[in-house]
Amino acid sequence: MKKVPVGILGATGMVGQRFIQLLDDHPWFEVAAVAASDRSAGRRYSDACRWLLPGAVPSKVAGLPVRPLDPALDCELVFSALPSDVAGPVEESFADAGYAVCSNAASHRLDPDVPLLIPEVNWQHTALIGVQRRRRKGFIATGPNCSTAALTLALRPLHDAFGVRRVFVVTMQALSGAGYPGTASLDILGNVIPHIGGEEAKVEQEPLKLLGTLTGDGVAGASIILSAQCNRVPVRDGHTECVSIELETKTEQRDVVAALQNYEAPPGVIDLPSTPRRPVVVRTEPDRPQPARDRDAGCGMSVSVGRVRPCPLLDHKFVLLGHNTVRGAAGGSIHNAELLVKQRWLG
Ligand code: NAP
Repeated sequence: MKKVPVGILGATGMVGQRFIQLLDDHPWFEVAAVAASDRSAGRRYSDACRWLLPGAVPSKVAGLPVRPLDPALDCELVFSALPSDVAGPVEESFADAGYAVCSNAASHRLDPDVPLLIPEVNWQHTALIGVQRRRRKGFIATGPNCSTAALTLALRPLHDAFGVRRVFVVTMQALSGAGYPGTASLDILGNVIPHIGGEEAKVEQEPLKLLGTLTGDGVAGASIILSAQCNRVPVRDGHTECVSIELETKTEQRDVVAALQNYEAPPGVIDLPSTPRRPVVVRTEPDRPQPARDRDAGCGMSVSVGRVRPCPLLDHKFVLLGHNTVRGAAGGSIHNAELLVKQRWLG
């Protein structure tokens, strides 16, 4: 198969770098263009970017010139890792010009005709692209907020099997989730910050769209009540979430564990290059999951769940962990793009 040339908007940032790392040697995509702000435009990628991931900048990208954010890149598909305040109009200009835009930004996630996707969770919501194309040549498809991505992967099999009624979640979110340079070291070293702007609303709203039902021109949100408290903690990568759930059906703990353990990607998703063998990995040790030890499960695409136990307030509680810049950002968007190729929305 001839590889699809792709561009990356916001290529020099935290998520942009993860895209470049994950796309190096990707079987279906190759990076043809990188774009960022006027501060970087015109420079070689390796000069413009402060590379934060292990190893060197992949050689195929190091010498690429950083381009401005004009929809004049030599590719059909662009990944967006732009800050939300910039992403809104820029992504629209690319989609209007005919590009397929796979975005990580929050700007368009809740637009009625824009799919918010996690392939294992709601692969069929790509049908919204057909609706969106009535008003533009290309389209925008989005991935959820990083905490939402991990949480919703664990909620999907429980909602399917038992119906989820209420969720209470407390997050402990890694520093890489704030981008680079992100939170100042003197604010976070030896500290916890109990506020991440806009995060709690995203975690309370986005799972409803992801777990919702297609209604022709939009999605009817799932009837689940979520309450989120989000904290920034001094961890480099990997968001940990303490979750309590109430279910529609009275359920034994072993059945909750079995539903999580047996969860598999549906046909049409299971064979995508980025689909992990297990979307949810259940840990049985009393002290797992931990970000330093579990964030790379399934190459960063699996969510680890542990400490499943009864909850005296709701029905069951557990701890989950997801890699915020892989499953929660670049890896999730690449997975979405693979789904779009497989379903022939591209090309
Ligand atoms: P970041 O490290 O701050 O990177 C931002 C990128 O956008 C850089 O390439 C930067 O280019 C570019 N940029 C900034 N201001 C710009 C402007 N005014 N015009 C054009 N380009 C501009 O942020 P990040 O953490 O990678 O996040 C990127 C997006 O992904 C955000 O929308 C974020 O909410 C979302 N997201 C992040 C995570 C995560 O874990 N970090 C997870 C899920 C979603 P220069 O280098 O040239 O300034």
